[in-house]
Amino acid sequence: MSEGSRVLRVSEVIAETPQACSVVFDAALDYRPGQFLTLRIPSDECGSVARCYSLSSSPFTGDAPQVTVKRDGYASNWICDHVAAGTELEILPPSGVFTPASLDEDLLLFAAGSGITPVMSIVRSVLAQGRGTLNLVYANRDETSVIFARALRELAAEHPDRLTVVHWLESVQGLPAAEQLRTLAAPFAARETFVCGPRPFMTAATTALKSLGVPRSRIHTEKFVSLGGNPFERATPAPAARQAEPAEEPAALTVNLDGAEHRFAWPRQRKLLDHLLDNGLDAPYSCREGQCSACACRITAGEVKMLNNDVLDSEDIADGIVLACQSLPLTDEVSISYE
Ligand SMILES: Cc1cc2nc3c(=O)[nH]c(=O)nc-3n(C[C@H](O)[C@H](O)[C@H](O)COP(=O)(O)OP(=O)(O)OC[C@H]3O[C@@H](n4cnc5c(N)ncnc54)[C@H](O)[C@@H]3O)c2cc1C
Repeated sequence: MSEGSRVLRVSEVIAETPQACSVVFDAALDYRPGQFLTLRIPSDECGSVARCYSLSSSPFTGDAPQVTVKRDGYASNWICDHVAAGTELEILPPSGVFTPASLDEDLLLFAAGSGITPVMSIVRSVLAQGRGTLNLVYANRDETSVIFARALRELAAEHPDRLTVVHWLESVQGLPAAEQLRTLAAPFAARETFVCGPRPFMTAATTALKSLGVPRSRIHTEKFVSLGGNPFERATPAPAARQAEPAEEPAALTVNLDGAEHRFAWPRQRKLLDHLLDNGLDAPYSCREGQCSACACRITAGEVKMLNNDVLDSEDIADGIVLACQSLPLTDEVSISYE
């Protein structure tokens, strides 16, 4: 087992559609709506691969935690074909920032295909625990591919004044274009928005929202990509700081995490996340390759450079968001916050 991981037992696998299933865990998990787990999937070729799957359950309904997986390639097929009640799966702790700041706020939600997974967790959580009103635009190929169709119908019937679902079926209406999504979003442009789905859908939805003047800070996106590396198989402790440039003074680092402030000297060649973990901080992470955003934090003073970034866009970066797993200090003093 790798450091920080744990093994969960599967209690049930639910067939959601012909292409998708939910894996229910027999365990208690501390997570926020919209977060994901990283699962270790065995492989004859390379030992194992790591894949992220969003929790579709809510931490506020008393239901067991579950992820929902749509067939799309090696790992997702393995899960749908091999996982059953009693299977044990190694996971990394819940992480991710696709999560509403408040469950009492009204939200506009855009989901397509398996992108409904984290959105479903948000819907269930807001309805169970908050006061917010939800408008969900949910796109799918056709009627048979709508994951959680029944659960959404029941929730909308139970909360007619708080949940409205607009289903968009490609088989009926074609692919949703930005101008069409704009019309659906227009009445709710003042809200926080959450967008998850295939890349063209996310582009159409974010284009629509931007054309309505929704600021980037209110558009939250979750990109479903496969991790290239394997955080389960990498040795967690990184090598000691490089010897090559002994004259380089470390930067002065201030970190706000879990309500506490920490100060460290930060060696210039040491990645921020590695340095925080070396110093015993429980900083969030998953892929450690700049691909998943689990380690995202905000720069509040100073500057860093990122060695790789496959997930943040220019507006995230302009807002001061960086990936801790890829950041090196550029200035003598750097302050970051996970709050
Ligand atoms: C934050 C986040 C949340 C996500 N949430 C969800 C979710 O809720 N639901 C969901 O369905 N998806 C989700 N995803 C996407 C998910 O992580 C995977 O990207 C998706 O399931 C596709 O992975 P795959 O392995 O099935 O397919 P691919 O990544 O396309 O798999 C093909 C790859 O596997 C390799 N491969 C083939 N055979 C083998 C073998 N025997 N051994 C090793 N490698 C092999 C191939 O070389 C190829 O590179 C999420 C992704 C992220 C980043």
